[in-house]
Amino acid sequence: MRFIILALLTLASVPGIARASDHDLKHLPKPFAYRDSKAVFADFEEALYEVTYDLTAKQAVAKAQIRFLTIEAGYPVFDSVKTPTSLSLDGQAVTATLTRTPNQESSVRAIDRLTQPGIHQLDVILPLTDLVEFRQDGVKSAFWTSDLQDRNFLERYLPANLEFDQVKMTLILRFKGLQSEQTIYTNGSVHRYDSTTYEIRYPSHFTSSSIFFHTAPKGLYPELRFGLRSIDGRELPVVLYTNGGVFSSSLDRLKDRVTTVIAELERDYGPFPHPSITVYLAGAGGMEYCGATMTDFSALGHELFHSYFARGMMPANGNAGWVDEALASWRDDGYQAIGSLSGSTGMSSHPYYTRSTDRAAYSFGERFMSYLDGKTRSKGGLKPFMRHLIATRVFRPFHIEEFIGWMGDYYQSSFVEDFKRYTYGTRSFESALPVRNTNEVHQKMHPEMLQSLL
Ligand SMILES: [Zn+2]
Repeated sequence: MRFIILALLTLASVPGIARASDHDLKHLPKPFAYRDSKAVFADFEEALYEVTYDLTAKQAVAKAQIRFLTIEAGYPVFDSVKTPTSLSLDGQAVTATLTRTPNQESSVRAIDRLTQPGIHQLDVILPLTDLVEFRQDGVKSAFWTSDLQDRNFLERYLPANLEFDQVKMTLILRFKGLQSEQTIYTNGSVHRYDSTTYEIRYPSHFTSSSIFFHTAPKGLYPELRFGLRSIDGRELPVVLYTNGGVFSSSLDRLKDRVTTVIAELERDYGPFPHPSITVYLAGAGGMEYCGATMTDFSALGHELFHSYFARGMMPANGNAGWVDEALASWRDDGYQAIGSLSGSTGMSSHPYYTRSTDRAAYSFGERFMSYLDGKTRSKGGLKPFMRHLIATRVFRPFHIEEFIGWMGDYYQSSFVEDFKRYTYGTRSFESALPVRNTNEVHQKMHPEMLQSLL
């Protein structure tokens, strides 16, 4: 922290530094030893993505132009699961090496050029092949993510940073050779230039786990659009759609359920934090995005809860990611309170660069929240604190240590020992409780399965 402040002072004269986000720099992962120097993480300031779907060649290509800041010398890091076909840094061709993090917990791409601190521009071109399906009448494509597997956020589709970073992102879509129309389902603001060109702007607080994006030939999916009045007076535009078949008749039932769940969540945690709601009823598990979800009927409440905790109160890394799953599971089971807890997990203490969520969150994590609720019962339990977090800390990615500190401040009592005992323990899950079947809510989806839901 001290180093970052000194580095910032030193860099104060670098053009563009005024735009750097202190919040992002505060959560910047530490560098690791690499070659003759270090691999250094960057603060992405802006990313302009352009995806071209060539309907004749049946190929999709993504181009990214990323402006980033580094605060020390080293080999800058970004990530893309697909190997770039072209890469340039500050206008010069470079290469990047897929590199394991020190404890083998994840992988990133380190640009093969020792780079001085400051503002840089990275240009990347790569093929977009995951969850893309060309058809006679257009193309189906989605950027669906998972927090249960490493490298399954935006980096699965586009060059991106780790989850800590809030980036101003714009996505331009070109449908080359399209004879008909496409529908775009997304949680950004869509500008249609013509029937083959769209621009989507996402809020600048978005991270690599925020974007919901799905496009399909117009008319392919039954949909229901309506306005939902928020408790703060806004009319939230809602889009519900489904992949047809047995689900198409459920849209009216889904509308009732969405209305009921949003009313419950707004009563408990205040106005819905996002400007719109998108629900894709796909009938298999669920995943949350900012104001959006792909879900089945039974997971709807869980996934919309995540628009407050996960995509409202945003985890900055894997060791903070369990909090929202524990809270969501605690809600699913009716906010139970308990007086004691046995067992321990390492949910907060996975190796430093871990990006995915510990599955113990759904079972032991839920019990831990019940325990904390029991412990804070005389002060109203956990829910007032959760409401306070949404009111004061929404859209600010956090580390688990910050969460523990905020909790201590709120209740005027330290919870460090509780978290240490129950979440910084051994990595193997030792509770006597059965491990809850996470398929109920976050079905682990294999690529073939997601493909079938496109
Ligand atoms: Zn969940």
